[in-house]
Amino acid sequence: SAQEQPPQICVVGSGPAGFYTAQHLLKHHAQARVDIYEKQLVPFGLVRFGVAPDHPEVKNVTHTFTQTARSDRCAFHGNVVVGRDVTVPELREAYHAVVLSYGAEDHRALGIPGEELPGVFSARAFVGWYNGLPENRELAPDLSCDTAMILGHGNVALDVARILLTPPEQLEELREMVQLPGTRPMLDPADFLGLQDRLKEMPRPRKRLTELLLRTATEKPEREEAARRAEASRAWGLRFLRSPQQVLPSPDGQRVAGIRLAVTRLEGVGETAWAVPTGDTEDLPCGLVLSSVGYKSRPIDPSVPFDPKLGVIPNTEGRVVDVPGLYCSGWVKRGPTGVIATTMTDSFLTSQALLQDLEAGLLPAGPRPGHAAIEALLSSRGVRPISFSDWEKLDATEVSRGQRTGKPREKLLDPQEMLRLLGR
Ligand code: FAD
Repeated sequence: SAQEQPPQICVVGSGPAGFYTAQHLLKHHAQARVDIYEKQLVPFGLVRFGVAPDHPEVKNVTHTFTQTARSDRCAFHGNVVVGRDVTVPELREAYHAVVLSYGAEDHRALGIPGEELPGVFSARAFVGWYNGLPENRELAPDLSCDTAMILGHGNVALDVARILLTPPEQLEELREMVQLPGTRPMLDPADFLGLQDRLKEMPRPRKRLTELLLRTATEKPEREEAARRAEASRAWGLRFLRSPQQVLPSPDGQRVAGIRLAVTRLEGVGETAWAVPTGDTEDLPCGLVLSSVGYKSRPIDPSVPFDPKLGVIPNTEGRVVDVPGLYCSGWVKRGPTGVIATTMTDSFLTSQALLQDLEAGLLPAGPRPGHAAIEALLSSRGVRPISFSDWEKLDATEVSRGQRTGKPREKLLDPQEMLRLLGR
C-alpha cells in the first residue's frame, strides 16, 4: 500500500507556502519524499521577488527553506513551468499527492479609463522591477517626475512609497517612513478627527499604527523634528475617502499627467462601513501612477478547479474540492493577503490534511515513480531543470558580487546569464 511505499509528494511553487508545506511533510512523515517544482530558475517566490530590500531580516526565512531543500528526501526543480512544461494530470499520475502552492502572480486591474497610459504601472510589476524579477527587468519606469500617486493603502503600497522615498544608499537599513531622512509627512489633521475616541476598539496592531499616524498628523513636532521636516526635500502623504476614477493623459495623450479621484463618504458603521461617491471629484497632477489594489492568482491547468471571482482554488482545509489527492496552500488557497507567518500556519494545516488522508488510506495505493517519470517527460520536451545545488552556485555568485559594493547581494537578473554561469 501507499503507507508501506515511501509516499511521493509533489509541491508546485517554491515560495513560503511550498517550502513550509514541504518542511511539515518531511518532519511529520519519516519516509515521505517531496519534490518542489518552480517556474523561476531560482527559489523562494515573493521572499526574493516581493519583500522589500530594506527588510533583510524578513528575507532570513530563506535559511530555514535552505535547510528543507538540503534534506535528502527533498529536491528542488527550478525552471519548470507547471501547466506548460508538465501538466497537473501528469504530476498526479507520477505522485501519490500534489500540492499547489503557486501563489498569486497577477494583479487586480483598476478598471478605469487611462489605465493603459505610459507611466501607469501595477505595484506588482514595480515591486518585481526593484526586486530583480526577470520578467520585469525591462520595465524602465520614468522616475524623473515630481509626483507619484499610489492607489491603495495596503502593506505593498507602503513598501512602494518607502522605496520611492529612500535614497539607494540607505536601502540596506531598516527605517520607518515617518522618520525617513530627507522626507516630511503631509497629513491632513481633518482626516483624523474623531479617531482618538475609536482607538480603544481597535485590534492592537492597527491601534499602534493609527496612533502613530494620529501623532504625526495632529501633534506639533518638537524643535529638532520640525527643523528636520522643514529641510526635507521629499514629502509623502496619505489621502482618505478617495476612489480612482480616471487616469488623466498629458495634452498630447502620450503619457500620464494626473489622476481624477472621486470623493467618497462612509455609510454604515465599523468594519462593515462602505464608501459611496459624493459626486465631487478632485484632480491631482502626477507623473507616475502605481496601482496597488491587490494581487490575483491565475488558473494553472484546465483540470484544476478555479474560482475566478475569489481568485483561489476552491478547497476545504487545503483539499481541492472534488479532486482527491490534490491539495493547495498559501495565497492560491486563501487569496493574496497575509504575511509569511500566516502563510506558514496555513501551509502546515494543508500538510496535516494530506498526512491524515494518507493515514486514512485515501491516497492511491502502490508505488509511484515520482520525479523519475517527470524527469523523463521534461527531458523529452527539452526542459532542463535547475537543482538546489545549481541555485547555491548562483547564490554564491550574487553574494560575492554584492560584497564588492557593500550590499548583501547583487541579484542576477538575466536568465541567460544564470544558465551560462551554470555551464549550460
Ligand atoms: P509566492 O511567494 O508568490 O510563491 C509562489 C511560487 O510559485 C513562486 O516562486 C512562483 O514563481 C511559483 N509559481 C507560480 N506559477 C507557477 C507554475 N505554473 N509552475 C511552477 N511554479 C510556479 N510578508 C511578510 O511577512 N513580510 C514582508 O515584509 C512582506 N512583504 C511583502 C511585499 C510584497 C510586495 C508582497 C506582494 C508580499 C509581501 N509579504 C510579506 C507577503 C508574503 O510574501 C506572502 O505571504 C507569501 O509570499 C505567500 O506565499 P506563497 O508561497 O503562497 O506565494
